[in-house]
Amino acid sequence: MLVQQILKAKGDIQVVTIVPGTLVQDAAKVLAERRIGTVVISADGTTADGILSERDIVRELGKRGPQCMSDKVDDMMTSNLVTCTRAENADVVLQKMTEGRFRHMPVVEDGVLVGLITLGDVVKARLTELAMEKDALQGMIMGH
Ligand code: AMP
Repeated sequence: MLVQQILKAKGDIQVVTIVPGTLVQDAAKVLAERRIGTVVISADGTTADGILSERDIVRELGKRGPQCMSDKVDDMMTSNLVTCTRAENADVVLQKMTEGRFRHMPVVEDGVLVGLITLGDVVKARLTELAMEKDALQGMIMGH
């Protein structure tokens, strides 16, 4: 299954972004209100300049305490992004996520953010695919 199909199945939802300079407390508010685990940092809404995960916030909270909530997201986000394109296979994306130990993957093409998929999206897509393969094989064996 291709990333493009996963995005279609999600309904091509627009990626939630915040601008650099946003305070961590405001980013946390966005995560809570939108019920999401990461937010992409984007200066103009089209580029992916970084990603901030609930994990980044919890780690800093544990290390430095609540004062980190008044910092700017720029210092806490991951700027070295691993991204994929719509043409990539879900298996490849799953491998990148497993190796990088993260659950989110911005979909970027020609420098433009076109979507975001989560580990949950990829697992769901793979399970659907495996169930279809199983049905097809069962049908062949049973002669249907
Ligand atoms: P996650 O498991 O996605 O909540 O994130 C775990 C860690 O990986 C956090 O430090 C994130 O900032 C970072 N991260 C999340 N997604 C990506 C990605 N696509 N590329 C690079 N780092 C990421």
